[in-house]
Amino acid sequence: MNERIASIGAVVSCMDGYDPDALPVDTASAAIRACLAPVAGIERAATRSALGRVLAEDIVPAFDVPAHDNSAMDGWAVRSADLKPDAETVLREIGTALAGKPYPGAVGAGQCVRVMTGAVMPPGTDTVVIQETVRADGAGVVIPAGQKRGQNVRAAGEDLKTGVPVLRPGRALTPADLGLIASLGIAEVAVRRRLRVAFFSTGDELASIGQPLAAGQVYDSNRYTLFGMLSRLGVELLDMGVVRDDPQQLEAAFRQAAASADAIVTSGGVSVGEADFVKQMMAKLGEVLFWKIAMRPGRPMAFGRIDDAFLFGLPGNPVAVMVTFYAFVRAALLVLGGRGDDAALPLLQAQAAHPLRKVAGRTEYQRGILFRDGALWKVKSTGQQGSGVLRSMSEANCFVVLEHARGRVEAGEPVPVQLFDGLV
Ligand code: AMP
Ligand code: MG
Repeated sequence: MNERIASIGAVVSCMDGYDPDALPVDTASAAIRACLAPVAGIERAATRSALGRVLAEDIVPAFDVPAHDNSAMDGWAVRSADLKPDAETVLREIGTALAGKPYPGAVGAGQCVRVMTGAVMPPGTDTVVIQETVRADGAGVVIPAGQKRGQNVRAAGEDLKTGVPVLRPGRALTPADLGLIASLGIAEVAVRRRLRVAFFSTGDELASIGQPLAAGQVYDSNRYTLFGMLSRLGVELLDMGVVRDDPQQLEAAFRQAAASADAIVTSGGVSVGEADFVKQMMAKLGEVLFWKIAMRPGRPMAFGRIDDAFLFGLPGNPVAVMVTFYAFVRAALLVLGGRGDDAALPLLQAQAAHPLRKVAGRTEYQRGILFRDGALWKVKSTGQQGSGVLRSMSEANCFVVLEHARGRVEAGEPVPVQLFDGLV
């Protein structure tokens, strides 16, 4: 199971540039990564239901795919040694081979076999001449000059080779992978069990949907964005609702979450004003670090462990929850769930359509709209960038990820963007 590290604090405190009160995004990611190992056990799944699951075994072909040399086209299978290089050759057709219906005999000198796509190459033949170039009449099958030996033949094992692993543990299975597994006749594979993730919102000001909104209250939207983001990761969800800013209630919620989940994701309660009593309470329960990350939005964040569960205490502001989730939690949950392949999201370059305000010394995740302008992809801001403006996340189709050291961006400068599509 979980290869537990002795202490999160011990692991991260010896990292280069580790300062919990001014932590660059990259250092925070590396610190989290250094503490994680896959926790999810292994189970078997039918091939179809393994879509998106993390493979937990090598898939090694027990036979070649395709199993035989076969025709890639409709035409005639011939022996290249029979063909005259500079003139037409007349061959005698001795039979037909169809996909799934091989020609039963051998093919001798001067003979050929009519073949359809997918037909096993009749013994003795090595080349397929496509039907469009052949004249077949009473006298025989007339093959024009200029055929290349081996043309239009799919070699046995050109897709998958016996004994050569094709899929490795740690890979999230794609539609193509399901097809590969099926092409090997495999009905069931070993996969990591789904990660169990508990999540709740904290805050005295939060109302749940269905309750009337009293003065000063806001509806709890974070549990909905978290639900959406976690669902897309394919984890098992444990929605624990809203927990009041009350030490006893919080302690009970954390204990229950830790007892039933591999990871706990919360929102709110980690900002400077609130952190103190949460800190004290958490010190009792496990090992939790409180960070101020050099990023915007999303400065405060807690990371730690309560019993065997990893805790991600995200800030309460609705945009900050989403940004910190994508910046840190997504990758961490993939690792805990056994993803070994590179699940990092690509950063693409786009051209800033207008100047962007930016302060050096922090990574900014501005919400952007990537659009096409002639041959160029440009990005514009969604406007108001406040960490409470959730509409900016809804209107955006990408983050403009402005690097730590960078200052103000002028129109026309290249900027890295991370597309929302595919954030799974
Ligand atoms: P906090 O990090 O708890 O200090 O919260 C920061 C801001 O985010 C406050 O304005 C909260 O009202 C707001 N907030 C916290 N949790 C939620 C939530 N679950 N849904 C919507 N807004 C929230
Ligand atoms: Mg709060």
